[in-house]
Amino acid sequence: MLHRNRYFGKYGGSFSAETLVPLLIEIEEAFEEFKKNRQMKEELEIMLKNYAGRPTPLFYAKNLSKKIGIDVFLKREDLLHTGAHKINNALGQMMLARMMGKKRVIAETGAGQHGVATATAAAYLGFECMVFMGEEDIKRQAPNVRKMKLLGAEVIPVKSGSKTLKDAINEALRFWIANAQDTYYLIGSVVGPHPYPRIVRYFQSVIGRETKIQFKMLKNRLPEALVACVGGGSNAAGFFYPFIDQKDVKLFGVEAGGSLKDKKKNSASLNYGKPGIFQGCLTYVLQDKSGSVLEAHSVAPGLDYPAVGPEHSFWKDTSKVEYGVVYDEEALEYFEILSKEEGIIPALESAHAVAFLEKLAKKGLKEAVVCLSGRGDKDLETFFKIRANSYQ
Ligand SMILES: *Cc1c(COP(=O)(O)O)cnc(C)c1O
Repeated sequence: MLHRNRYFGKYGGSFSAETLVPLLIEIEEAFEEFKKNRQMKEELEIMLKNYAGRPTPLFYAKNLSKKIGIDVFLKREDLLHTGAHKINNALGQMMLARMMGKKRVIAETGAGQHGVATATAAAYLGFECMVFMGEEDIKRQAPNVRKMKLLGAEVIPVKSGSKTLKDAINEALRFWIANAQDTYYLIGSVVGPHPYPRIVRYFQSVIGRETKIQFKMLKNRLPEALVACVGGGSNAAGFFYPFIDQKDVKLFGVEAGGSLKDKKKNSASLNYGKPGIFQGCLTYVLQDKSGSVLEAHSVAPGLDYPAVGPEHSFWKDTSKVEYGVVYDEEALEYFEILSKEEGIIPALESAHAVAFLEKLAKKGLKEAVVCLSGRGDKDLETFFKIRANSYQ
């Protein structure tokens, strides 16, 4: 019975080392049990409400709407505890870890956002927490490293390879295999082998469910379009999923195009990549002619990933979702516009989704709901470095 729905069309699957298979099956069993357990689900719901701050508001952005010429609603995930949607998934998977009787959770992190969300949930729910992070990333993301330590997590510097995210993942997997008895591996997006993409989408779907109810309260109908940025694809998957079979709602995922100055360097795997096997699943991957995985580039640290969740690959091929590209320069422009127009400083990731509205307005769309996946405090330093001349 288990391991039956491993695929999304031809994408997904579980291309993992033999040693991982029993661990993945154990997680899948816990996940199936969780979905049937009303008490557990209620406990998570209360935690999301009282600890994380759900439901998040659906906000009509009057000034931005006027400026761009399309009615814009923002789903305010930026108002959640820790400042982004990642806490939804961290709390959810922590419940699975507890059901499985694990004492320790481990996570990989690149920019540190998933590390902080995991460390936060671990502190609250009483887990030991280890976060694997490339040495290069540790240097670049000092504030998040300090935050994780303050929250009681141990940050493990990874010295192998390019000393970035993919090396951190390798190291975390190695540790997991050696310590599976008491350790849960908490993945931060809808990526990796089955069952992770389904688990993460399940815990993030609260975003789309709330949006559907809130929009109905406002307008007594469904919205014309939804827009979300796509890194690994978890905020987009959770936002889109409750609408995926609603033919009258247009869904737009926005990938990071990197800088206009060098369009070859980007993070837009669905637009510029090809299907390949990466980190345990078949999905679109940025690769060169020989199939070597390319390094991803984006001004938004959370979008800087050379692949994408396998379900998005399926949605792309079946035209359920249309995937566009927004460049660094456009995202930076809308980072500033949203701040000045609405008094909301968005994460640079979310600014990609906001910038895409201009393209939708040009296409003649009249209305869109944007998933504002996170707040921009973490990006202020990056922004002011680039815009040094304007803010002296
Ligand atoms: C991590 C992050 C993202 C990208 O991750 P997804 O899995 O694609 O959602 C987007 N926005 C913010 C604010 C993030 O922290």
